[in-house]
Amino acid sequence: MILTGDNNVMRLYLLSFGTMQPGDIPVAGYLVQTDNGTNVLVDTGWPRSYVENPQHPPGLTLEIAPEDTVVARLASIGLTPSDIDILVCSHLDDDHSGNHDLFPGAELVVQREHYELAKGGHPRFATNREIWDLPDLNYRLIEGDTALTAGVELLETGGHVPGHQSVLVRLPKTGPVLLAVDAVMDQSMADADTREMWVTDWSESPDDEARIRASTQKIAEVAARERAALVVYGHDARQWAELRRAPEYYE
Ligand SMILES: [Zn+2]
Repeated sequence: MILTGDNNVMRLYLLSFGTMQPGDIPVAGYLVQTDNGTNVLVDTGWPRSYVENPQHPPGLTLEIAPEDTVVARLASIGLTPSDIDILVCSHLDDDHSGNHDLFPGAELVVQREHYELAKGGHPRFATNREIWDLPDLNYRLIEGDTALTAGVELLETGGHVPGHQSVLVRLPKTGPVLLAVDAVMDQSMADADTREMWVTDWSESPDDEARIRASTQKIAEVAARERAALVVYGHDARQWAELRRAPEYYE
């Protein structure tokens, strides 16, 4: 990392980590680069072992090619895991945290509520635990909305899971881009009042649906307040097909 320059966001890459079928449902990560050389990665996709040995969720087939791993996607833009300074963990589901073990040199930033829930042994996050819960991983626990670095803000959007977070990136030419991740998985779920609850949305208490609707509303409000040029939904096949994906980028 070169500690000179103005530390403004320069580029946003959208990384394809494979699809779920039917429907070409994308699994995604994101890389933000600043002009002082800081690399911020958001999420790491499914475990790379799934390329050879996919663990299909009920009713879905995973399609993960060798070029869909986080290592291959980073390589396509000239980076290796050791180049990543900050790894933002939206949450610890296995399609978002499957390769965290490759980033012992980064600071892993996660909402405290989410980390403590997973660390406490909730079974949803246990399947993948040997990958995200390692002594050499350097977690920084945050609470609520947090300015990460110039031009990158983390937004607490708990609902899909407790302590989920989304990312606001202010790009010099494109303008603000909001990475909703799984707070809003698809454009069809962007209306807080009418959105359906998805099968993977948290549902352990009667309050959970209200929290999902509140985080959906927060995404809409931030997008409006910031006049976001783009809201990237977490698993939206139709939108993903139209977006610029790595090695192309937004600037
Ligand atoms: Zn997801």
